[in-house]
Amino acid sequence: MINARTTAGLPSVLKQLGKMTAIRDTYLVEQSLLRTLGPLLGVTETSLYRVDERGSIVRTLHHARQVETEQEGVQRVAEHVEEIANEQQLPEEVESILDNVRLLDKPCSRRLESDFIICYPIHGGGELCGYFVLRREHEITPMEDAIVHGVLEVFTNFFALLDSSQRDRLTGLLNRYSLEMNLDRLWNLLYARLHEPDGTQDPERRDKQPHRYWLGVLDIDHFKQINDAHGHMIGDEVLIVVTRLLQAAFRRSDLIYRYGGEEFIAIIAANDLEAATQAFERARKKIEHFKFPRVGQVTISGGFSGADPVVLPQEVINRADSALYEAKKAGRNCVLHYESLVRQGVLKEISTGSVDLF
Ligand code: GH3
Ligand code: MG
Ligand code: MG
Repeated sequence: MINARTTAGLPSVLKQLGKMTAIRDTYLVEQSLLRTLGPLLGVTETSLYRVDERGSIVRTLHHARQVETEQEGVQRVAEHVEEIANEQQLPEEVESILDNVRLLDKPCSRRLESDFIICYPIHGGGELCGYFVLRREHEITPMEDAIVHGVLEVFTNFFALLDSSQRDRLTGLLNRYSLEMNLDRLWNLLYARLHEPDGTQDPERRDKQPHRYWLGVLDIDHFKQINDAHGHMIGDEVLIVVTRLLQAAFRRSDLIYRYGGEEFIAIIAANDLEAATQAFERARKKIEHFKFPRVGQVTISGGFSGADPVVLPQEVINRADSALYEAKKAGRNCVLHYESLVRQGVLKEISTGSVDLF
């Protein structure tokens, strides 16, 4: 049976799809997906869960829509989209339906009090890469189901295209363009995590959470010589192997970007300076001790700085970069910490461009 409200929503879906394909940022496309499907299905809250290749949830986007009636009886729609920190525990009913969808690899619904909670899998590159979840009073009609499938398919194809423009083709890492596009959002998220109200999570989980982030710029030493001695193809191979070693050295939740030719940026979570130093040292040593085919030993140098969310992100990159410069001067194959260099008087503090928070 064709649902009148759903078909009435069709032209607006087409309009939204048009808008969606005009967007060049994956995050905005995800937002747009929720803004498209929520009103279409007559629900006020929708969520999108993204998973990594191992099936762990890497981020959650939650969309809430409220129709507010103002004094003169004018109706206004207030929309709110928020990105929820990964560490937060999923509600039990959501966790269990996601498990079901993953196992069956098809949409599932489940009764919850007087509502239904409904979940669709999202695929990318043949793999399950996310879930779309909504809650409402009645089941999805066949017509609605067909539309949701259609919209999710367009979304998935488009997302894959976007994703490829944000990744470096040689190494598969996120590229500099993606870093620059996402720095502000990343900084907002870091800021929000630092200031999460205490009551939001159980204390044990909260205490385990690393509440500090660090940004490192890592650069392969004498890479030009590697190219000159062995050729560009072998140079490319070194870049790929270094990427894999970095991925293995850092945590899955840390972010690694290819920032330039043989330069990488890593944004990592660590509780304190000691833990951050250890993580960067682990990466440096992993590369130092790896026997590269043909080339033998390859080393990297690095500089890192606290990713303080009240300091402008570009400023943090500059700080890490100046520490990297010192590491090169100090003989390479080492990683230095910007704030320590300032304390030691080796570097002068770079004037802080601070973020205007209010
Ligand atoms: P340093 O230890 O001071 O960092 O010296 P370096 O030789 O590593 O640095 P330099 O900036 O002088 O040279 C970087 C080289 O990286 C030059 C460039 O040709 C090479 N390069 C950049 N991108 C690629 C790439 O995608 N593949 C290959 N094979 N080489 C690249
Ligand atoms: Mg180099
Ligand atoms: Mg370089």
